[in-house]
Amino acid sequence: MPEILSAKPIINQEVSMLKKRVSKLGEPPLLKVILVGSNSESLLYVNNKVAFCKRINVKCEIVNVEESISKEGFVKLVSKEAQSTKVTGLLVQLPLPNQLKEIEYNKLIPPEKDVDGFTDKNIFSLYINKNQDVDYYHIPCTPSGILKLADYYGIKFSGKKVTIIGRSLIVGKPLSLLLTNKNATVTLCHSKTKDLELITKSSDIIITAIGLPNFLEPKHLSDHHNQIVIDVGINRLNKKTVGDVNYELVKNKVKSITPVPGGVGPMTVLSLANNLVRAAEYLCSHSSGKEK
Ligand code: NDP
Repeated sequence: MPEILSAKPIINQEVSMLKKRVSKLGEPPLLKVILVGSNSESLLYVNNKVAFCKRINVKCEIVNVEESISKEGFVKLVSKEAQSTKVTGLLVQLPLPNQLKEIEYNKLIPPEKDVDGFTDKNIFSLYINKNQDVDYYHIPCTPSGILKLADYYGIKFSGKKVTIIGRSLIVGKPLSLLLTNKNATVTLCHSKTKDLELITKSSDIIITAIGLPNFLEPKHLSDHHNQIVIDVGINRLNKKTVGDVNYELVKNKVKSITPVPGGVGPMTVLSLANNLVRAAEYLCSHSSGKEK
């Protein structure tokens, strides 16, 4: 039987630690989420964030605006929330409607409030491999959630061959930097990659962030039952949530595997909460004049 890399034990442990950190802050942090329109999946993700914030006693407010909001209106809104001294962390729920897609709204958010870790300064810190314990910055939530999950289950990346399928700005690309910094040998694959099966078969760890239900099959795996599969995908299929991995077919051919739901998804929300609490701690020490 494979080891199931469930988020549950980690969440239980981390919630109590986060609550303790929040209780030490003078005032509970406030997360603002800007939600444009009423896409049902976005609503679900936002509600998960609200529920998690409640669990750790932090405030989360949603600013829900019409899908038809103008570029100017959107820029004004993000700027206003970004500059508010009441707001600890700010994020814009993706995807955005077409008229807003070209706006570089991340440039409007100060890096310390950018709890998604998408602003130039935060990404650059990852690029040059700053030590997060020493220098202040936020790591994007899904990649950082994967690191925490791996750490809990004793998965080491150093010297390992890791294949990431999917090169998005929010998952694949930052994850490839993060794992390179962890001394893994990373192969970043995408829709134009040739001979994907050959690449995945010879990998120690396979991470899928594609958005295609049941994409990864036994044919992508080695016959040695020694690979680790981390499934980032969240897809709807026949009214069920499934990953990018054909879990039922793959699970008996691997050493360990993340479930969907219950794997990377909750770890992403946990990382967001952790970034928010770090932002609050930073703002607290910063406003009292202490050096970080
Ligand atoms: P994007 O849709 O932005 O990108 C998908 C990537 O997959 C692209 O790089 C694309 O290649 C690649 N791809 C598509 N088809 C193939 C194929 N046949 N073979 C190889 N590569 C392919 O993805 P996201 O990163 O935003 O999301 C990916 C999945 O992860 C989705 O299911 C999403 O819901 C989920 N997700 C889950 C999160 C979590 O917390 N668990 C967080 C964020 C996302 P190309 O670049 O060439 O087009």
